[in-house]
Amino acid sequence: MPAYMLLTFDLDGEAPYILKKRDYVQVTRGLYGVKTGLYKILQVLDKRRIPATFFISAYVAEMHEKDVYEIARRGHEVASHGYLHEDFSQLSASEAEEVLTKSKNILSKFGSVIGFRAPYWRLEKWLLELLALKGFIYDSSLMDSDFAYTLELGSRKLVEIPVSYHLDDWVLFEEKQFPPDIVLRSWTYELEWCIENETLFVLTAHPQVIGRGSRIRVLDGLLRLAEKLEKVEVTTCRKLAEKLLKPGD
Ligand SMILES: [Zn+2]
Repeated sequence: MPAYMLLTFDLDGEAPYILKKRDYVQVTRGLYGVKTGLYKILQVLDKRRIPATFFISAYVAEMHEKDVYEIARRGHEVASHGYLHEDFSQLSASEAEEVLTKSKNILSKFGSVIGFRAPYWRLEKWLLELLALKGFIYDSSLMDSDFAYTLELGSRKLVEIPVSYHLDDWVLFEEKQFPPDIVLRSWTYELEWCIENETLFVLTAHPQVIGRGSRIRVLDGLLRLAEKLEKVEVTTCRKLAEKLLKPGD
């Protein structure tokens, strides 16, 4: 198995701020991601012909249909990230089911939706079964492995593509306010380690964060490095999940 590099972008847009009834300035902070940050990311991905996965809060797809079409049109995967960026650990099973169904229906307009990532990476274990029941093939919210793996949930299977805070731009840039060169150095070190150990490198980035100002150079720098390195396959969550579920593999 080679090391896999997955570029995942959570397009939250204004959804979390609307749900939490934050002021309009916070709403514009989210809007920056859709209007500006997203296009910087798409440009970098286009330049290097690299496919990515976009986890999208379905409200954003309703409000910014043209921008989400642009993601799909350029060949990237569209996956589910709630409707209004809900904290699923606070929802009842019936509320969660309603949100999953509604958001999947909205996003299906842009292609088949087989993946889910819990907003804030918060969920309870029962949600995994519900995801499998609702036809999701994979989840990308848990933190218990360096590798993607398959969960056996009764008669159903769900691939898990684990994430981590140290590869999350929100933590490093928004919370810690690290300068771009430090973040690039840290992610470079991590990518090299993943390649040496044939593990999984799942970058979680947000258009409103990595797409702001000079930070986009970190993404470009990381992809430039990945192109040069052998033994790393850059792919989408969809392709990796399908590979894991392929009989005989
Ligand atoms: Zn999110």
